[in-house]
Amino acid sequence: MADYRLTLIPGDGIGPEVTEATQRVIAAAGVSIDWEEVYAGQTALDKGFDVPLPEVVLESIRKNRVGLKGPCGTPIGKGFTSVNVRLRQALDLYACVRPTRSFLGVRSRAARPFEGVDLVIVRENTEGLYSGIEHQVVDGVIETLKIVTERASRRIVKHAFEYCRSEGRRRVTAIHKQRVMKLSDGLFLRVAREVAEEYPFIAYDEMSIDNMAMKIALDPTAFDVLVMENLFGDVVSDMCAGMVGGLGLVPGANIGDRYAVFEAVHGSAPDIAGKGIANPTALILSACLMLKHIGERRAAWRIEMATRKVIEAGDRVTGDLGGSATTREMTEAIIVAMEGLPK
Ligand code: ATP
Repeated sequence: MADYRLTLIPGDGIGPEVTEATQRVIAAAGVSIDWEEVYAGQTALDKGFDVPLPEVVLESIRKNRVGLKGPCGTPIGKGFTSVNVRLRQALDLYACVRPTRSFLGVRSRAARPFEGVDLVIVRENTEGLYSGIEHQVVDGVIETLKIVTERASRRIVKHAFEYCRSEGRRRVTAIHKQRVMKLSDGLFLRVAREVAEEYPFIAYDEMSIDNMAMKIALDPTAFDVLVMENLFGDVVSDMCAGMVGGLGLVPGANIGDRYAVFEAVHGSAPDIAGKGIANPTALILSACLMLKHIGERRAAWRIEMATRKVIEAGDRVTGDLGGSATTREMTEAIIVAMEGLPK
């Protein structure tokens, strides 16, 4: 009998390739999971469902409480809401947590990655400018509403502080643009200050998004836990992923009070899908967050260490990291590296 029954959404594009790699690594770490596989995104439509997020996906996660998800695309121009946005709203996965740490030895094709980065983005996942409420006021004028509520602000800032406490971190920075959005970001900051008072042993400060963008480009090592609204968080997460070597590396978690879904920051990467060359690291590290969430801290640690060792060695890594290994070869290297680590 397996130790756990969890939901698996392989997703679109490179999704099935990186989820398969991740399942293999988890099994090799000795955690036995009975995966309930369900389909979302374009894959769901291809399999005959009439919507990209079928109810069966939500039911599976509601039953199992925890899911691992590959990237899901939303067909454009067919009137479907984004699968990711809908999933987060339907399950009230209000906190998107994205730990971004430098990797030793990353040889990115892009500019040289920063060393010593170790920051966490805590992004509000259910409202802000991604509320999805927009309409045409008159011909040629569109209005998109940014929703900020006291309830959602309080719980996301609390989540950031609780994360800080459980992970031994020291500082929460609230990111805002209060000078322009006086009421909405004003409310967010007021609530953040109130929550901060409940945690006198954790430092708290505030920074406007533009100031942060400049400071983080100069020195991302100066940041710890950053809490912010949906759109800011989306942009800043991708930017920080680039700083440590690219989208193929950075994990993510979507967490609510009842359910949690773990997924990489990257999308379905249609340009490389089906070629067997996707970097599995981001989803493997997302699975590490998942394993920690269910209490399998030891396995999470071994998988992360093994993955980092393989990246540092650099000879069995995928093309985005400057290597020529396939997804399978990199996965096998991670499994071998894990065997050399204490159990
Ligand atoms: P979405 O709109 O679905 O969020 P996106 O526009 O952010 O997607 P991605 O699909 O994440 O785009 O891909 C952006 C670029 O990063 C592409 O060139 C893609 O090949 C590359 N990329 C993304 N994920 C990986 C990965 N795991 N391994 C290698 N390259 C990747």
